Amino acid sequence: MKILVINCGSSSLKYQLIDSETEHYLAKGLCERIGIDGVLNHSVPGKDKFVDESPLPTHKDAVSAVLKILTDPEKGVISSLEEIDAVGHRVVHGGEYFSKAVLVSDDVIEKIGLCSDLAPLHNPANLIGINACRELMPNTPMSVVFDTAFHQTMPRKAYLYGIPYSYYEEYGIRRYGFHGTSHNYVSHRVAKLMGRPIEDLKIIVCHLGNGSSISAVDGGKCVDTSMGMTPLEGMIMGTRSGDLDPAIVQYIAKKENMSIDQVLDVLNKKSGLLGISGTSSDFRDILSASEQGDERAKAAFEAFAYRIVKYIGSYVAAMNGVDAIAFTAGIGENNSLIRETVLSSLAYLGVKVDPEKNALRGDEVMISTEDSVVKAFAVPTNEELAIAQETVALLQNA
Ligand code: AMP
Repeated sequence: MKILVINCGSSSLKYQLIDSETEHYLAKGLCERIGIDGVLNHSVPGKDKFVDESPLPTHKDAVSAVLKILTDPEKGVISSLEEIDAVGHRVVHGGEYFSKAVLVSDDVIEKIGLCSDLAPLHNPANLIGINACRELMPNTPMSVVFDTAFHQTMPRKAYLYGIPYSYYEEYGIRRYGFHGTSHNYVSHRVAKLMGRPIEDLKIIVCHLGNGSSISAVDGGKCVDTSMGMTPLEGMIMGTRSGDLDPAIVQYIAKKENMSIDQVLDVLNKKSGLLGISGTSSDFRDILSASEQGDERAKAAFEAFAYRIVKYIGSYVAAMNGVDAIAFTAGIGENNSLIRETVLSSLAYLGVKVDPEKNALRGDEVMISTEDSVVKAFAVPTNEELAIAQETVALLQNA
């Protein structure tokens, strides 16, 4: 089947057309600056990249441009829109309504709208993308795959905050978790690589990118994850602070004469690796600066690694054991130093790193030795493929 995967942001739209049989993409691209001016970057394996700077006043224009380029006789990869079997949309927040991917209906659209309060920057943009596609391809089945859904299996003790229960009941304030598509995909890949049923395994997935989160996956079900009601909780990230004492918000507001919104902006956009190092949110910059002896970059690296080690330790405790630890996303897939640093702090669990395998890049690889009690893996995540696979599964079961 050919599945068009759409990830719609407030002024951008990422797409991939995926062949679900070969699991390869046929074309992919990104529309940016929607509503400002517009630029579309389109690429097809084996062909030159193509850039179109025609205006994109609305998301509907962006979807139209994508459909036009996909069917273009020269730059395209299909001869008609009929060849697209389904569209899979990424949606950030499904609240407590959605514990798995679903086919789009009016009821689903309404519920995604009800979750907008919890993800005001993302859900409205996701909905615009869905509605634009529905208008332009009214007869094509569509699915929505939620970043939060995989974490809906978390038990109450893991998702409740220690605040008045009425806030949970009235406002839905609880931990939801994000990057669920990636955690789900990577934990299944790990089970496959181990040649064991996922139902028998306790797996910790470290999704380390610009945004980072860690999940504890017991028997294929998420039992805890580090992000919370919003993606701000948990790891130290590119620009997000991760966990901190909430009283700090008031303290900074008073000291710096800021509103709560301004402090939250600092915690989301000016903290994390960027905030500690004072130079960059990009992990490669942190690595090269710390190699050159920059103490603040070193401090950022150490704090980043230490937080990961602490979370892994707590998830081993939460699951009463662990069989495998997996690293994924930009940093987790590509950087052997962070994997080595984290895993060497976990020697007490019986993890033994194989330095040669840990140095490999780009592919799924077991980076622990054969006799390592707990296995470790680097697994490239592929959220678009996971969305396409979930869409195919929904269509087959419909
Ligand atoms: P993501 O959000 O998954 O795209 O990951 C982005 C992060 O991955 C950035 O901090 C990048 O610096 C980091 N990253 C990408 N490639 C590498 C690499 N080869 N070595 C270290 N970090 C990398």
